Amino acid sequence: MNKNDIPAIGIDLGGTKILAGMVSNSRLVGEPVRVPTPSGPENIISALLEIIADFQREHLILGVGIATAGIVDPESGAIIGSTGNLPGWEGTPLKHAIQNKTALRTHVENDANAAAYGECRAAGLHTNHCSIMVTLGTGIGGGIILKGGLYRGAHFAGGEVGHIKISMENRRRCTCGLWDCWEAYGSGRGLLATAIELVQGKTAAQSCLCEKGEELTTNDVLDAAAAGDLIGRQALDKYHEHVAVGMSSLCHVLDPDCFVISGGMSKFVDLNLLKDLLADRTLPRISEKLEIYPSQLGVAAGLIGAAQLVLDAVAGVESVANTR
Ligand SMILES: [Zn+2]
Repeated sequence: MNKNDIPAIGIDLGGTKILAGMVSNSRLVGEPVRVPTPSGPENIISALLEIIADFQREHLILGVGIATAGIVDPESGAIIGSTGNLPGWEGTPLKHAIQNKTALRTHVENDANAAAYGECRAAGLHTNHCSIMVTLGTGIGGGIILKGGLYRGAHFAGGEVGHIKISMENRRRCTCGLWDCWEAYGSGRGLLATAIELVQGKTAAQSCLCEKGEELTTNDVLDAAAAGDLIGRQALDKYHEHVAVGMSSLCHVLDPDCFVISGGMSKFVDLNLLKDLLADRTLPRISEKLEIYPSQLGVAAGLIGAAQLVLDAVAGVESVANTR
């Protein structure tokens, strides 16, 4: 087997499940495996070692890339910032724990950063000046690729795009505790908050959403919009504006070649409408040649990106992939 074709194991460690697979040339090799995330750092590390051993029994493996929630120091491979999804995870020396037991080259990366890297490598966007991945889910995540390498920032918290401010009215509290973050408007939760504002003073005759009261969910709003409900459609239109406003701020700081849009909310986004709304709010020099692409890798982006970071490090493009 050509050395370039030897796969790395990619692992995406989430709050509820671990997704793992072999990766070569920014693509999955074979089927990924999925197991529930056990509780506590020791049990998680044991589960990861078991997954790695299973792959190693049948395949030659070049290394291991792990994408995890939380703030990661990718040099030491330790988790330095906590996350509500993985209690007790902060302070875990993950890279050492895995590398010492497996003797495989190991890289640990923040999950949003890993996903951005995976998407850019798979789509051949790593030769761009700047690509920004925006994940629209229950929150907003992001990752920034500058000249082929991840931009991690001075405190390893670069690319936390969900917390840029899009208002100074202190109207919506973000999950981070601050006010009026982009995430409080441009996420699934943000869409729901917008719909709740819009139904105030309306009757059931004006919108089916009024009947739901306190039980209203993001999916109710999306269903209502799809069925032509006026308030549902207004909420979804406003959602597109909220997404465009945050992207416009990113445009004026980074002048990107492109955005890649992913996440559970992305399938409800009309990319042509988003592009128009973005152009209305952005300097023409930036917006005219700006591309917006949908995600190619979906839920596998994090594990593919983490594994590809290892493959690229072994192949000698490590200096590019460690922009800081
Ligand atoms: Zn925030």
